[in-house]
Amino acid sequence: MRSTPRTQPTPDAQSAHDAQSTGNTPDTPPTPGPAPRNRDVLISGASIAGPALALMLRRYGFNPTVVERAPELRPGGYKVDLRGVAIEVCERMGILPEVRRDSTGMVGGSYVDADGRTIAELPAEIFGGRAEGDDEIMRGDLARILYERTRDDVEYLFGDSIAALDEDADGVTVAFERGGVRRFDLVVGADGLHSHTRRLAFGDEKQFTRHLGAYISIFTAPNDLGLDRWETYYALPDKLVCAYSASGQTTAKNMLVFGSPELSYDYRDAAQQKKLLADVFEGDGWIIPRMLHNAQAADDFYFDALTLIEMDRWSKGRVVLLGDAAHCASPASGQGTGLALIGAYILAGELAAARGDHTVAYRRYESEMRPGVELNQKFAENFAKEMTVSSERKIRLRMRMVRWLPKLPWKNLVAKKIRDDLQKAAHAIPVKAYALPVEQYA
Ligand SMILES: Cc1cc2nc3c(=O)[nH]c(=O)nc-3n(C[C@H](O)[C@H](O)[C@H](O)COP(=O)(O)OP(=O)(O)OC[C@H]3O[C@@H](n4cnc5c(N)ncnc54)[C@H](O)[C@@H]3O)c2cc1C
Repeated sequence: MRSTPRTQPTPDAQSAHDAQSTGNTPDTPPTPGPAPRNRDVLISGASIAGPALALMLRRYGFNPTVVERAPELRPGGYKVDLRGVAIEVCERMGILPEVRRDSTGMVGGSYVDADGRTIAELPAEIFGGRAEGDDEIMRGDLARILYERTRDDVEYLFGDSIAALDEDADGVTVAFERGGVRRFDLVVGADGLHSHTRRLAFGDEKQFTRHLGAYISIFTAPNDLGLDRWETYYALPDKLVCAYSASGQTTAKNMLVFGSPELSYDYRDAAQQKKLLADVFEGDGWIIPRMLHNAQAADDFYFDALTLIEMDRWSKGRVVLLGDAAHCASPASGQGTGLALIGAYILAGELAAARGDHTVAYRRYESEMRPGVELNQKFAENFAKEMTVSSERKIRLRMRMVRWLPKLPWKNLVAKKIRDDLQKAAHAIPVKAYALPVEQYA
């Protein structure tokens, strides 16, 4: 599916309005500078980071093109938290009303035993470690919001992928898998944990991955438990499973996590992964047999290792990486989507501020992002160790703690402690208001 690009960037009054209404006055005055360069930007990946970058680049007068391997926008996915600076960025991007509208609206969750009997219930604030203003949305809904905001004036190439990159002093010649060859000024890899752009520009992904000791699978399933904005967890030694259903959903999500050293499997082979999951959870209780059955039928089956991507640098020449492709913090951070949005905002802002000079913009983007990214990755590393518990005895202890928590007079202090750690990570990257290009003030 291809949509026609607008060839001339138009002034975006909306962004000036957003800047005023949110109090985000540009940091630098809109004085004329050298002629903008590097306008034509190819972005690989149309999930969160890619369309968010396209949205902001259009606002600054660039011409982004987004290529996505999937034949259409990938629907579905899990619920993702948006906290702190990520919420501020949604506001600056002008998408916060839609994010609020499509909020998962989760009200709480419970832990059950192998027979499905409730052990403990907790409200959503404690489960999500959320502070005032934070929100949660299904990944697919956020991707759709960003896509709908950009599809009329950004060229999307679905069902295609970069086959080869050939950079010279003036730009990059890109060969596409479906046969086309085009010139771009800059190339952005926003194609996720297993980034193809990263492989082309930086080499084998093995150099950059760090396994966090667990695997996660998630997929859409029938809402057999009749859950309504509710998540239900069952813990076994080295395993944790969950079913949840968010606001407005007729289906549920099933999620299965298990601790394991690195396994050898093909990350593109869903059938192999489903078999692996079935072997790991064979004979386990609660609704796990049904979950394994649901996994077989799911067409949005997701399976991956909890992995960090750690790189010394995120750009090489005219190619730069964004979101999970650059610095995946894994689902254990609960911050990957937030980091993808913040990165998109900063990268676009720095390109605009440098009037397209990628050598300056890429350096500034990285120095603004890196300390906060490292903090979030550290958080993920610690949290991944606690996602599963190694023995029945430790599970009983944890369940006892969870059961008593809502009854304790100092429960708010415990909730605050959980929240504070998350909030520190969620506020780790300050964002500034970037000046609009001078021609857009005319
Ligand atoms: C179970 C789970 C729970 C999570 N929970 C949270 C949470 O609570 N909070 C949070 O902030 N984050 C969470 N995350 C992480 C979050 O989903 C990611 O960090 C986020 O989606 C990163 O966005 P991205 O755009 O960088 O990459 P992705 O979302 O991975 O998107 C990459 C895109 O690139 C496309 N692509 C891949 N290869 C190619 C190619 N060769 N050519 C073109 N396109 C290609 C893919 O199809 C995809 O559309 C969670 C993740 C998981 C799996």
